[in-house]
Amino acid sequence: MTHVITSICVRDGACTEVCPVECIIPGQPEEEWPLYYIDPDTCIDCGACVPECPVDAIFPEDEVPDEYTKDIGKNVAFFTDGPGYDALDM
Ligand code: SF4
Ligand code: SF4
Repeated sequence: MTHVITSICVRDGACTEVCPVECIIPGQPEEEWPLYYIDPDTCIDCGACVPECPVDAIFPEDEVPDEYTKDIGKNVAFFTDGPGYDALDM
């Protein structure tokens, strides 16, 4: 499983400071990828990012509220179809 960032995200970056495996990446370009995204293949489900988020945007995958389930696919797509880790150099 993985944790998922939902479209509640306001891009303040707080979650990236605590992730022990550095798998939370800011979406770039922002117009196309407006959130921060969690690499589902690397996330170890430690939950450290959840309390750091000031707007409660991060959920375990199986607890994502219904209105945000589309964000699960977007998180995956950022790493498969989007820039993924290359966004760190953009
Ligand atoms: S749950 Fe842990 S490993 Fe996964 S993104 Fe959050 S801090 Fe990183
Ligand atoms: S802490 Fe929350 S609002 Fe800030 S970048 Fe992470 S998910 Fe987005």
